[in-house]
Amino acid sequence: MQIGVHGLVFTGEFDEAGLRAAITGTQQAGFDLLELPLMDPYAFDGALVGRMVDDHGIAMTASLGLDAAHDLSSEDAAVSRKGESLLERAIDVVAEAGGEHLCGVIYSAMQKYMVPPTEAGRAASAAALARLGDRAQAAGVTLSLEIVNRYETNIANTARGGLRFLEQVGHDDVHLHLDTYHMNIEESGMLEPVLDAGDRLRYVHIGESHRGYLGTGSVDFGSFFRGLARVGYDGPVVFESFSSAVVSESLSNTLGIWRNLWDDSADLAAHANRFIRDQLRAVETIALH
Ligand code: MN
Repeated sequence: MQIGVHGLVFTGEFDEAGLRAAITGTQQAGFDLLELPLMDPYAFDGALVGRMVDDHGIAMTASLGLDAAHDLSSEDAAVSRKGESLLERAIDVVAEAGGEHLCGVIYSAMQKYMVPPTEAGRAASAAALARLGDRAQAAGVTLSLEIVNRYETNIANTARGGLRFLEQVGHDDVHLHLDTYHMNIEESGMLEPVLDAGDRLRYVHIGESHRGYLGTGSVDFGSFFRGLARVGYDGPVVFESFSSAVVSESLSNTLGIWRNLWDDSADLAAHANRFIRDQLRAVETIALH
């Protein structure tokens, strides 16, 4: 199992200096893995990132949320096709960087929809994801669809909704990505969705209810980590936190990061690394009971 951290804990800019700050911060906090937000896959230098993470002995993954102009679930075939092209490029650069996971809101735009999804839109997204699954599989990359709350997608807001959508996708290299921040808003609890997702769960985000320091909000982490142990989860577990102290124009505004919940990235990251490893160690011992 790899314990990781989202790049926006350290920097809002992912040029070479930003990458260096994120990689160094990841390593110094004790994490195994850095998740990079792929704001613009066309401008992402996979070879450079691959060299930089290798030099520091950490792994990388990437995530993204599509915008309205690249909405895979659009009924406008040209828009959906643009989204598919962007995701093809994203798969290619993640593979080039040596990453094995691409996740996030890669099935619709990441935004508040004012209407429910249409059957045609769902079908367009599912068909595109099946094609992308083939490309990802050939590249050694696993695609995981992040289940997010109702204000960020209309396709699926719960693990079970996500599983129904995966049935429609019908590809064995397209899986689920659960995030405790979103689960805390939409799910009936923190244990059942993990059990329901079972071996379709391939990526995890650990976020507090206000996206700040772990343990200071209302997320029931104990139940969530017990669920991971129960299903034998072995994929990445990645800390995600946002504050107005570190700003990315595109991502911070989309996610509504208006408050300053922390200002010391190194302290926040080291705390989260300890918190996650302590939870995982504790639930491991349940096997002895
Ligand atoms: Mn997330």
